[in-house]
Amino acid sequence: MGPKYSSLYLRSQVSPPLTTSANSEGLAKLLQSVFGFAAFRVNQEAVCRAAIEGRDLLLVMPTGSGKSLCYQLPALARGGTALVISPLIALMDDQAAKLTSLGLKVARIHSGLDRALARQACVDYLNGSLQFLFIAPERLRVPGFVEMLAKRKLALIAIDEAHCISQWGHDFRPDYRMLGQHLPALRGGEGNVPVLALTATATPTVQADIIAQLGMVEPARFIHGFRRDNLAIEVVEVPVPMRSGIICNLLADAARRPAIVYAQSRKQAEKLAEDLSVKIPAAAYHAGLDAETRERVQTAFQASELEVVVATIAFGMGIDKADIRTVIHAGLPATLEGYYQEIGRAGRDDKPSRTYLMHSYADQRTHDFLLGRDYPPTDHLSQIYRALTAEPQAVEQLRGGSRMGEEEFDKALEKLQIHGGARVDFGGNVTLGRSDWKKAYSIQSLYRREQFDKVLRFTRSHECRMGALVGHFGDVADASLNCGQCDVCDPAGAVLRLFRRPTAGERTWVQDVVEALRGAAYKTVKGLRTELDWAEGMGRDQFEELLGAMLRAELIEVADAEFEKDGKVIPYRKISLTDAGLHVRAATPLPLLISDGVVEEFSGAVAAPVRDRKGKVAAPGKGTHESRPRKSADTAAVSLTPESQALAGRLREWRAAEAKRLGLPAYMVLQDKTLAALAQVRPGNPRQLLTIDGIGAAKAERFGAAILVLCGAGQ
Ligand code: ADP
Ligand code: ZN
Repeated sequence: MGPKYSSLYLRSQVSPPLTTSANSEGLAKLLQSVFGFAAFRVNQEAVCRAAIEGRDLLLVMPTGSGKSLCYQLPALARGGTALVISPLIALMDDQAAKLTSLGLKVARIHSGLDRALARQACVDYLNGSLQFLFIAPERLRVPGFVEMLAKRKLALIAIDEAHCISQWGHDFRPDYRMLGQHLPALRGGEGNVPVLALTATATPTVQADIIAQLGMVEPARFIHGFRRDNLAIEVVEVPVPMRSGIICNLLADAARRPAIVYAQSRKQAEKLAEDLSVKIPAAAYHAGLDAETRERVQTAFQASELEVVVATIAFGMGIDKADIRTVIHAGLPATLEGYYQEIGRAGRDDKPSRTYLMHSYADQRTHDFLLGRDYPPTDHLSQIYRALTAEPQAVEQLRGGSRMGEEEFDKALEKLQIHGGARVDFGGNVTLGRSDWKKAYSIQSLYRREQFDKVLRFTRSHECRMGALVGHFGDVADASLNCGQCDVCDPAGAVLRLFRRPTAGERTWVQDVVEALRGAAYKTVKGLRTELDWAEGMGRDQFEELLGAMLRAELIEVADAEFEKDGKVIPYRKISLTDAGLHVRAATPLPLLISDGVVEEFSGAVAAPVRDRKGKVAAPGKGTHESRPRKSADTAAVSLTPESQALAGRLREWRAAEAKRLGLPAYMVLQDKTLAALAQVRPGNPRQLLTIDGIGAAKAERFGAAILVLCGAGQ
């Protein structure tokens, strides 16, 4: 036991508060003198103020919006040491380096560091000379560590990437979940040590989970910054074979470029880039291209030599191009998070930009296939589980004994291990794990499916698109505001999505719906359909479209609701009349617009002439594929360069050694396809590393540094 200090004494000893008042002037001064920033960004000041006052807070703001400052400045203002808990070593190192370069006193404790450094960090912490102490969450499990920290009163506790706490978050970390049980000790008896949870992504469910798990006390919630005022979102149903032609026609207009097109497969990306490059400097960008080609595409796009890039992966992370006018999704994305991030690359210069999401039933089937592959049937896991015993068995032997293919088996074993059903020991052998893996696994795979269902619901919704996205990210207050420019808010302004006036029959149907709703608080879609005899005879989509038209005309309102059945949450919608709807009588002219596919000017197949923006018909042949040139060097798929081959060799060697050292099968260090992707992409920093398929936060943390060295990063 170390000496007993009074925490108050310690607090005033070193690192006194850098400002005595939390008034605007004091904070602005601190912002300038320490961080060198002229002014707060929107919301930063309010967040800082709440933290300085000692309030718990939940901060959900997009990446790059300046969340770090929201715990750093309050930490300095409050004085003492701020404890920063971060699940990702790479990001922790990055932040610590930034703070150090500002002249602040910072220490880190994580598994990647020398023991002596960790000891020194503790000494420095105890004698009060640290302003920031960064730790990895698992550190809290080390006996005595929490007690050591509790000897001093902390300035605040910041929890980065807080969504990892929630098993509903997309990156759940079991180690993070037990944070909550240590917080009371760290906050001390007096309370008043605020807990700040920060994340760029938390749906309302995740938010509630974070708050509950951390035992936050009446937290202030700051959920901001997801609305983008200069983005007009358009969602349009387009059959797959028509997409390429439409995209070519759309982007033939120079005012719609530069543009990024997100494709669903490498093949589609190559093909689209090829079709586009008939008229427009365009190239593909995907994980199958080697690092040089990708670098070249990126640089050319940045320099405006290329005007369109067709990408399959998170293209745009490495570039800083502010004038992207159009982002097109040539198929459905897997999650709304990903979708939002991708459309967010448009219009960074704040000028009006447009995004198009193309979808059809076929996209759903593609995703079903992908989900089935990434989340194998529980059956497969059970099969392996049943073969396990308390006696260790070699992976190869188990694999041989199963009736699964190698990849199939590895995928299933990997999932079984993640969810505790199998243990892989240091001899590379597998033993029987816990029996409760099934529940955890089904929660996870269900969660993935739900994420995609949310994308589907987004495409079908008749709500303002931007409002729906903002709401998805948890900014419920801002979600009800209509953007005025998406295909729902402004159907007449839609570029691709075609709307027409209703027929006489449709007008009568709408009148019938109004009468059915009149006097009722609300009715469900299903209820309405059964009640109206003509509705039962029409397709569900057609009925939905009728409601969509009424919603756009502001005759009805739709509220999302849900009920529980057999433990499953089932969403449904409540339809009710608006004031305008109530005033509809038999003779009222109805301002209705019915969705009707794609505007002809673009859908007129590939051979149709393209109109320029003034409506003039462009020269014949424009937009056709008659004289398609050979693949340009940029778009051709490239096999591994000698450098990449050499790197693949080095990675394989390292993997073998690492697997041996850890006593694990090699695939658990890196899967073959991950290794190949690394060799091709050759990531230069932790962020690039994380874009590689198969490298998640845990892998990056464990092996990231070694892999980056092998890839030659920082040389
Ligand atoms: P986040 O954690 O939300 O992803 P960061 O905290 O890393 O974002 O901030 C993103 C960038 O914005 C950083 O380069 C940071 O220095 C800068 N930044 C933050 N606040 C301000 C400010 N008030 N004025 C200017 N730049 C800022
Ligand atoms: Zn809108």
